Amino acid sequence: MEERKYSNMHVLMIPYPSQGHINPMLQFSKRLSTKGVKVTMVTTIFISKTMHLQSSSLPSSLQFDFISDGYDEGGFTQVGNISTYLSHMQAIGSKNLKELIQKHNVSDHPIDCVVYDPFLQWVLDVAKEFNIIGAAFFTQMCAVNYMYYYVYHGLLKLPISSMPISIPGLPLLELKDTPSFVYDPGFYPAYYEMVMNQYSNIHKADIILVNSFYKLEDQVVDSMSKLCPILTIGPTVPSFYLDKGVPNDKDNDLNLFQLDSSPINWLNSKPEGSAIYVSFGSMVCFSIEQMKEIALGLLGSGSNFLWVIPNMEKKNISKELVEEMSSSGKGLVVNWIPQLEVLSNKAIGCFLTHSGWNSTLEALCLGVPMVAIPQWTDQPLNAKYVEDVWKVGMRVKVNENGIVTKEEIESCIMKVMENDIGREMKINAKKWRELAIEAVSHSGTSDNNINEFVNKLKRS
Ligand code: UDP
Repeated sequence: MEERKYSNMHVLMIPYPSQGHINPMLQFSKRLSTKGVKVTMVTTIFISKTMHLQSSSLPSSLQFDFISDGYDEGGFTQVGNISTYLSHMQAIGSKNLKELIQKHNVSDHPIDCVVYDPFLQWVLDVAKEFNIIGAAFFTQMCAVNYMYYYVYHGLLKLPISSMPISIPGLPLLELKDTPSFVYDPGFYPAYYEMVMNQYSNIHKADIILVNSFYKLEDQVVDSMSKLCPILTIGPTVPSFYLDKGVPNDKDNDLNLFQLDSSPINWLNSKPEGSAIYVSFGSMVCFSIEQMKEIALGLLGSGSNFLWVIPNMEKKNISKELVEEMSSSGKGLVVNWIPQLEVLSNKAIGCFLTHSGWNSTLEALCLGVPMVAIPQWTDQPLNAKYVEDVWKVGMRVKVNENGIVTKEEIESCIMKVMENDIGREMKINAKKWRELAIEAVSHSGTSDNNINEFVNKLKRS
């Protein structure tokens, strides 16, 4: 056998181009670099133009490369239609990805493996054309992937007709607990097709990774593994906040939004456990009416609060309300902040969140109880686990007009911040934090699974 001219295995990491899908892959790349694996993270040219990257804290064995998805000037927003975007991305992206693999294959570091987000299931077909190991990396929780598996294979028929929904390994579910693409498949048909397509070629994947950890979802992992073997390798939260095993790993490092000046001095001036952190991630867009109820609920709670409202969302809240929040002396509105640093600040007593999977994991890992206001995609099922399985938060109730009222927001916040229920949640949250640390530490379940993945590369 010809001697390899290089020492490291080389992995291409291909995320779906959005903040919540890039973060876990970038974190996983950093973990792989500590195991001697070279990683090239591939995102779109549009992302390369808009991202703010703290490259100084990244390991030298982690590099970036970019391909065109056909929309270099605006990404998805250039088209506005998800169906058109996804199909063009597949056609143009696969051609460009092939060229990129060819380019690397004539260098000193040919590609050994492609880790891809199954939202981009076509990446696996490209990898297989080159006879390269293909690893699917589900960035959402195992329970969500498992439900999609059930629907895709006709084990759960849509529309769902009988309640509660009973699936081995999952708690009994009401319709409102299921991912939005399950309870309303016709609402976003292109996204529905995308989440189902994840399974169209997965039998060709050599390995399936999930951003979760065994003890967090043990029953789901056991049940799903009987149908489709998976390796939990999460939580992909910066190591500084967990095992400290990855050097300089303190942040998610790549932001698609401009960071605001640090709110840490503001938080440091607040008493321990007195402040609410409010963020609805990178994609949720509330109506003007809902934003107003949230603002009034926060003001009514009497607590300090730090609210991330990205500039593009500011149109949905009046200047007067933003002014009222600032002049109350209690509220600080920001564009985008380093979320881990904020969640780990002692002043934070509660996280009002849309229950995106990364935000949920980050709060669990930092022991912060949550008030969940899930909107769509995986968020309702994440919120179900937060409230009923992990018991680290509560989900708000929506009124008959589809609005979460200020009274409801205020009451949930007060319960989580001040009540016995809240104290219990904090104790539970700290327990999950310990278990997350255990999973990623040396010989923990996730660490072992990452080693298994790396060993598979070495055998190739
Ligand atoms: N985030 C951040 N700064 C902010 C708000 C969010 O760094 O001001 C990060 C957060 O830490 C998380 C990601 O953005 O890693 C959001 O992912 P999530 O899955 O929670 O939601 P999505 O944006 O996909 O809806």
